[in-house]
Amino acid sequence: MINIEEIKKIIGPENVFENEDMSRHTTFRAGGCAKYFLIPDENNIIGLINYLKKVDAKYYIVGNGSNLLVKDTGYDGAVIYIGSKFDKCEVSGNKIRALAGTKLSKIASIAYKEGLTGLEFASGIPGSLGGAVTMNAGAYGGEMSQVLESVKVIDENGNILNLNNSELKLGYRHSIVMEKQYIVLEAVMKLNLGDKEEIKAKMDDFAGRRKDKQPLEYPSAGSTFKRPEGYYAGKLIMDAGLKGKMIGGAQVSEKHCGFIVNKDNASATDILELMEYVSDKVFEKYNIRLDPEVKILG
Ligand SMILES: Cc1cc2nc3c(=O)[nH]c(=O)nc-3n(C[C@H](O)[C@H](O)[C@H](O)COP(=O)(O)OP(=O)(O)OC[C@H]3O[C@@H](n4cnc5c(N)ncnc54)[C@H](O)[C@@H]3O)c2cc1C
Repeated sequence: MINIEEIKKIIGPENVFENEDMSRHTTFRAGGCAKYFLIPDENNIIGLINYLKKVDAKYYIVGNGSNLLVKDTGYDGAVIYIGSKFDKCEVSGNKIRALAGTKLSKIASIAYKEGLTGLEFASGIPGSLGGAVTMNAGAYGGEMSQVLESVKVIDENGNILNLNNSELKLGYRHSIVMEKQYIVLEAVMKLNLGDKEEIKAKMDDFAGRRKDKQPLEYPSAGSTFKRPEGYYAGKLIMDAGLKGKMIGGAQVSEKHCGFIVNKDNASATDILELMEYVSDKVFEKYNIRLDPEVKILG
C-alpha cells in the first residue's frame, strides 16, 4: 500500500496530488479522478518507481493525455505525469535528443529552425515525445519509427535500458514500450539536413489539412479507433450512417467520423458508450471490428 508521506520525501510534497481530476490532464476534457497524481523529475523518477514497485502499487504513465480516457469511476492507483519536468531538447548536428515530456510540436519546430527534415509529420500531433514513442505516432506518411535512433527507458524491473530503433519493435500504433509497460525517459531522433522553406511548406500544408478535415474546435483524442487493415475507420463509420450520432454529450464528429468529440460536457461514460455503439454497428454492417486507438484507464 502507498504511504503518501514516503512519496512526498522522494519527489517533494509540492509534486504530490490526491484525487486529481483527470479531465484537466486529457484532451477529451472528460473523466474521473486519479487517487494519486505524481510529478517526478529526471532525478527522482527511479526512486519513485522503485518505491512503487516495493509496495506493489498500481501506477500508470501519462504524458499530454491526448490519447487517453479515464473512466468516470476514476483510477485507484498512482498516475505518474511525465510532462513539464521532462521538457528539454538539444540539437547536435543532425540529431535531436529530448526528454520524454517535451511536446512533439516543439521538437518539430526546433527541427525546422535548425533546417532538419523528417519531423514535419509530427508538428500537429498534440502529444509528448514519450507518448509518441509509445504509440509510434504518425501522420501523412511519416511516423516515429522513421526518425527514432534510440530511446532510454525504465524497464519492468526498474532498470535503465537504452533501446535502439530495431529493439523498439515499432509497428502500427505499437511499440515494445506499450507491450512491456516500460517508461520512456528520453529519445534521440536522427534527421536529415533539408531546405528550411520546404520544411515550412510541408508543415503548413499538414496544418492546413488538419484544420480542414479535423474537428479541432472540440475536445477529442484524435482518431478514436485504429485503422483496420485495408480500410479507413472514419469511412466505415460514415458509411454505417453514424455521422453526428450522439450519446449524452459525446458525438461522432460531423466533420470527420473517425473522431468522437466531446461536443457538450460529455462524461467518459458517454464517450465509452458511443465507442461501443459505433464499433457494434460497424461490425453488424461490415463484419469488421474497430479496435480503440485511445487508451482507457480505470
Ligand atoms: C486533435 C488530435 C489529433 C491527433 N492526431 C494524431 C495523429 O495525427 N497521429 C497520431 O499518431 N496520433 C494523433 N493523436 C493522438 C495522440 O496525440 C498521440 O497518440 C500522441 O502520441 C499521444 O501522446 P501523449 O503524450 O498525449 O500520450 P498520452 O495520451 O498521455 O498516453 C498515451 C499512451 O502512451 C503512454 N505514455 C505516455 N507517455 C509515456 C512515457 N513517457 N513512457 C511510457 N508510456 C507513456 C500512456 O501510458 C498511454 O498508454 C491526436 C490527438 C488529438 C487530440
